[in-house]
Amino acid sequence: MNASDPRVPLASTASSHMERLFPTLTSAQMARIEARGRRRPIVREEVLVEVGDNNVPFFVVVSGEVEALRPTGATEILIVAHGPGHFSGEANMITGRRAMGRLRASEPGEVIQLEREQLLALIQTDAELSEILMRAFMLRRLELIAHEFGDVVVVGSTHCAGTLRVKEFLTRNGHPFHYIDLDRDAEAQALLDQFHVSAADVPVVICGGDKVLRNPSNALIAECLGFNDAIDQTRVSDLVVVGAGPAGLAAAVYGASEGLNVLVLESSSPGGQAGSSSRIENYLGFPTGISGLDLTGRAYAQAQKFGAQVMIAKGATGLACDRHPYGVRVDGGTQVAARAVIIATGAEYRRPPLENLSRFEGAGVYYAAMPMEAQLCLGEEVVVVGGGNSAGQAAVFLAQTTKRVHMLVRGEGLADTMSRYLIRRIEDNPAIDLRTHTQIIALERNGHLERVRWRDDRRGDIETNDIRHVFMMTGAVPNTGWLARCLALDDKGFIKTGPDLSQNDLALAGWPLTRPPYLLETSRPGVFAVGDVRGGNIKRVASAVGEGSIAVAFVHQVLQQ
Ligand SMILES: Cc1cc2nc3c(=O)[nH]c(=O)nc-3n(C[C@H](O)[C@H](O)[C@H](O)COP(=O)(O)OP(=O)(O)OC[C@H]3O[C@@H](n4cnc5c(N)ncnc54)[C@H](O)[C@@H]3O)c2cc1C
Repeated sequence: MNASDPRVPLASTASSHMERLFPTLTSAQMARIEARGRRRPIVREEVLVEVGDNNVPFFVVVSGEVEALRPTGATEILIVAHGPGHFSGEANMITGRRAMGRLRASEPGEVIQLEREQLLALIQTDAELSEILMRAFMLRRLELIAHEFGDVVVVGSTHCAGTLRVKEFLTRNGHPFHYIDLDRDAEAQALLDQFHVSAADVPVVICGGDKVLRNPSNALIAECLGFNDAIDQTRVSDLVVVGAGPAGLAAAVYGASEGLNVLVLESSSPGGQAGSSSRIENYLGFPTGISGLDLTGRAYAQAQKFGAQVMIAKGATGLACDRHPYGVRVDGGTQVAARAVIIATGAEYRRPPLENLSRFEGAGVYYAAMPMEAQLCLGEEVVVVGGGNSAGQAAVFLAQTTKRVHMLVRGEGLADTMSRYLIRRIEDNPAIDLRTHTQIIALERNGHLERVRWRDDRRGDIETNDIRHVFMMTGAVPNTGWLARCLALDDKGFIKTGPDLSQNDLALAGWPLTRPPYLLETSRPGVFAVGDVRGGNIKRVASAVGEGSIAVAFVHQVLQQ
C-alpha cells in the first residue's frame, strides 16, 4: 500500500498490540500447522475467501502477501495485509460463521491451508498455537467491533425497544455492526421516509450488505447472518445442553473438552442473566470484578474452541422423553437427538412492566439483596418491591444498614404471602415503611437511577422520591414451560433433581432403573438440570458454573451404562 492509496488500514495501534493481533509465527510453529493441512501456491489477485463464504479455510502466508479487505460498494477498504509468517482469520474461524470480509493474494507466493475442522483439531491439541491463534482471533474480532467493520448496519433510534434488542443481540453474539441513529442523522430519516419505512419498521437491519430486514426478530437476524449454518442437526449428540447461560456454557466447556460431542441450544444469545450484569464482583478469581458480557463471552469462545456447537436464537420447544435417544424439539420445527440432556434454561426474574427498567438493572435496580448490594446503599433510602419471603428478608436485612426501607406491596397486606416471623420483624422495625396497594410507576434519570415514582392504587396518590436503589424481590419464574409433563417439578415449577425426588415422583415418572437418580439428575435417566432452573439451586453465577461442570461427570457415567 503506498501513501496515496485510498484504502485505510484497520489498526494504527501501538506496535505491541499489533504484534498480538498479527503475530509472526516461527518456522517450527508453521511446520506444525503444515503437518495438519497442505501447502499450495497463490497467484496475484487470487480470491481465497469471499464475503459470505461458509466454512472459511485458515491460511498461513509462507511467501508473498495476502490482503484482508472489506468491500464497500465498488471500492474496498484494506483491513490488513498479511506477510510471511502471518495468518488469516478472526473469531468466525472458530464459530464456523460466514466470512465478513474478502481475502485476496496481493503478491504471488505460497500459503499453508487448513480446513476449519483441521484448524479446530490443531487448537485442541497444540497448546502453544492455541493460545496464539485464540488470542489473535478474539482481539481481531474486538478490533472489528471497535471499528464497526461488520457486514451489518442497524438503523434505529435509542428510544426504541426494538433497536436496543437488536443491538444487544448483536453485541452479545460478538457480531460487529455499524449503527446509524435516526435521532441524530436527519438524512438517514429522510432516506427511510423515501422507502416508506414507518416507525413500526424500525430498526431496519441491513444484513450481509444487501438484505434489508424491517424490525426483524433475533431468529431472523441469526438466520440472515448464518449464525447456525455450520451446525449439523441430523447427528445424534452425546449431550444436548439447553440454555447457554453460565450453567449451560460450563456444561458445554467440560463436556466438549472431555471428548463428548455437544450441541447447545440457546433461545436468545449466550450469557443468560449473567450476561446482563454490568459487573460481577463475587465470581472467584476476578478481584476487581468482570462484566457479565466479558465473562460469558469468554466462556462462549472456550466452549467453541473445544468443539461444542452453539445454536443461537433457537430455543428448545419440547422434550420427547418417551424414547431413547431423547429428542429435543427446536424452534422452527426440527428435532435433535441426544443420548443425554442437560437443562440449563435458568429463570427469569419477574420484571414489573416499567419503561427503562433494563437501563437501570445493576445501576440502581437489583434482584438480590446481599452484602454486596447493601454496601452500595449504606445510609441511603431504598425501595423493596414485593410481599413474599424474599422481599421480607431483603427489607429486614437492608434496614440494618440503610436510612429507610420503603416496602411496596400491591396487595392488601403481607399475611397471605409472608412468614409470620418476618411480618412481625417488619412491623416492629421503625426503619421499614410498609405501603400496601402501592406500586412503582416510573424510574427516572440517565445513568444511575436517581428518582422513583410510585402510586397508591386505592387513593390514586402519586409520590416522587429521590431514591437511588430499588430491590425487585418479586420472585423468579423458571423457564420450564417447554418441558410439558416430562419431568417432576416442584410447586413453583423448578425442576426436581437427585435426593429431592420422592419415591412418588419417580413412580409417577416411571423411573426404570434400580439405581436412584444421580445428583442433579431429574426424574428421567440421563436428563440433568443445573443452575437457576433447578429446584433448591443457589442463584449465583458460581453455583451455576459448578453445577454445569458437575453434571458432565454424571453424563459420562450414564453414557457408559
Ligand atoms: C442483573 C443481574 C445481575 C446479577 N448479578 C450477579 C452477581 O453479581 N453475582 C452472582 O453470582 N449472580 C448474579 N446474578 C445471578 C446469576 O446471573 C444467575 O444465577 C445465573 O446467570 C444463572 O445461570 P443459569 O445458566 O442457570 O441461568 P441463566 O443465566 O438464566 O441462563 C439461562 C439461559 O437459557 C436460555 N433459555 C431459556 N429458555 C430456553 C429454551 N427453552 N431453549 C433454549 N434456551 C433457553 C436463556 O435465554 C438463557 O440464556 C445476577 C442476575 C441478574 C439478572
